[in-house]
Order: sequence, then C-alpha cells, then structure tokens
Amino acid sequence: MQRRQAIVLLAAALVPRPAPAFASDHRLALHSFSEALMGTTFSIRCYHADGALAQQAAKAAFLAASAINAVASDYIADSEVLSLSKAAPGTAMRVTPLLFSLLAEARGVAELTDGAFDPTLGPLTRLWRESRRRGRLPDAPELAAARAACGWAHLLLDPASNSVTLSKPGMRLDLGGIAKGQAADAMARILEQHGIERSCVTAGGDVRAAAPPPERAGWSIALHASAQEMDAAPMVLTNAAVSTSGDLHQSIEIGTARYSHIIDPTTGLGLTRQVSACVVAPTATLSDALATACCVTDPAKVRDLARGWGVGELRLAQA
Ligand code: ADP
Ligand code: MG
Repeated sequence: MQRRQAIVLLAAALVPRPAPAFASDHRLALHSFSEALMGTTFSIRCYHADGALAQQAAKAAFLAASAINAVASDYIADSEVLSLSKAAPGTAMRVTPLLFSLLAEARGVAELTDGAFDPTLGPLTRLWRESRRRGRLPDAPELAAARAACGWAHLLLDPASNSVTLSKPGMRLDLGGIAKGQAADAMARILEQHGIERSCVTAGGDVRAAAPPPERAGWSIALHASAQEMDAAPMVLTNAAVSTSGDLHQSIEIGTARYSHIIDPTTGLGLTRQVSACVVAPTATLSDALATACCVTDPAKVRDLARGWGVGELRLAQA
C-alpha cells in the first residue's frame, strides 16, 4: 500500500492581507445560501444587516457561476468551450469575453506550471471517462492519438480580436480543474459589488473568503480530503482562497491500480500516486488550478515551481 501524500502549499508572501477594520455592528446577521452546480454544491455564507439584499446578491452570484458553467462546461454538449473543438484546426474563432478571460487565466497557469496544469487535456480526460465506463484502460493507439492532440502551447489566444485558435487536430479543452475556482471568484466579486463585504463562497473543494465574520479573525474552513493527515484544526481564512484537489473520490480501479481523475500529462493516464494537495492563494482561480498541478508534480518540483511563482514560504506536509 502506497503512503498517501498530502501537500500544503501556502502562497504566504501573497496571502495574509490584513483584514480591513470594520465597525462592530450588532445588526449584522448570517445568511446562508446553496445551490447544486458543476456536479457539486456551491454555497455562500455572508453577513449583512439587510437580508433581502443578501438574497438578491446571492441570486446574482449563483447566476454568474451558472453563466461560467454554461460557457466552460465539458459536460454540456453545446457549451461554447466545446464548440471550439468543432472548428477546423488552425482556425481563429471569436469567443465571448467571458470565455476568453477564462481561457486566458487557464493558459496562464499552464505556462506557470510548465504544463502540470493543462487545460488542453480534453482528449485524455474524455478517454479517462470512457475507461471508467468500460472498466479498462485505453489501448496504446487510442492513448497515443489522445496524447498527440494535447498541449497548452497549441492553445493560441488573440486578445485584440478575442479569438481562440486550437492549432492541432483533435484538440479539446477541459476547464474542469479551474472552472470552480473561477466561479467562486466571480461570485465573490458579485457579492462585493452588492455591498456584501463579509462573505465566504464554497464551490466544492474550492473556497474563496472575503472580509471576516464580525468579531472574528477569519472564516473557519474545514479542509476535507486528507485534512486530518495535514492539520486537524480548521483553517482560518480572510481575503484569500484555499483549494483541495486529488482526494481520489473519483478514482477508478483497473487491474491492481487506482487511477485518479487528475491526469498526469507525461503518461496520459490518471495519477496512480495517492496524493492530495491543499493550496492557499490570493484567488480561487489560482488555488484551484495550482492544487491540481501540485498533485501532478512531485513535491520537489512543487518547491521549484513555487520559487518561480515568487512564493515567499512553502510548506509541504506529508502524511
Ligand atoms: P475536482 O474538480 O474534482 O475538485 P480538480 O480541481 O483537481 O478536482 O480538477 C480535476 C479535473 O480537472 C478533472 O476532472 C479534469 O476535468 C481536469 N484535469 C485532470 N487533470 C488535469 C491536469 N493535469 N491539468 C488540468 N486539468 C486537469
Ligand atoms: Mg483544481
């Protein structure tokens, strides 16, 4: 039995921004909302004196997350991101500003992580789902063809025209490793625009915290997955995000091995190393994508990557 590894990466140089000083206000009340979205539960906790405003803000925030899901989902057959796969290779396709910004963020993290996080692994993630359904691994030619159709450097973005080019045949995008974080960030922005400053958005394993609850240092976040292996105490978070990836809930067992739904771009298959990563970063977009990347790369590589990100402190915890 392999030892399970748990990685904690704290972008500490960027993180604890001091909480803004709020006047204590006894009228503030906690409001909680949740909705099923992106195959998981999204929830909002926020404090505000005006319950109707909180409800209106939450509704707008969930709508923003739904809008991201509608353009970026790999499961919705006519989503805008999947329609790109239908274009002839090398054809520049104009996309909505929303999809363009999601893709630009995803490509940025791919570059940053040297492809450990890669939003162009769609052909491989599709194959993984098929393997799960069939209960057997893809054969060698299938795997080779899917691998040949991946590569973030072939995702070309032109900000001047908001257009996207997939330069190789058979390419297919999969934003599953970043979209929940992007949705959580969008929701936090909407809440703030409505004047809700003290909020915490949870999107499955991705959490984005804004200003803290009244009289408290931050939002208390129970880290699931291997939390007990890393740190039994809940994390207290303010103006930052935390994501956990790789809990193996979605793994498949084929033969004697267990394959995670996180793909190792170097093999084209799901990870067999049992690993989970917890990353704290300034935004949920970053923490989500980096947590996925940290599962893929080994801890030593994570240290190197972190240096490249300009992270001041890096903590790796291994169970
Ligand atoms: P979850 O969404 O289950 O919380 P992650 O954030 O780690 O977990 O995202 C996993 C999803 O990301 C997979 O289901 C797949 O759609 C996509 N994915 C898998 N491997 C990679 C990878 N190496 N880089 C980018 N995305 C990936
Ligand atoms: Mg992720």
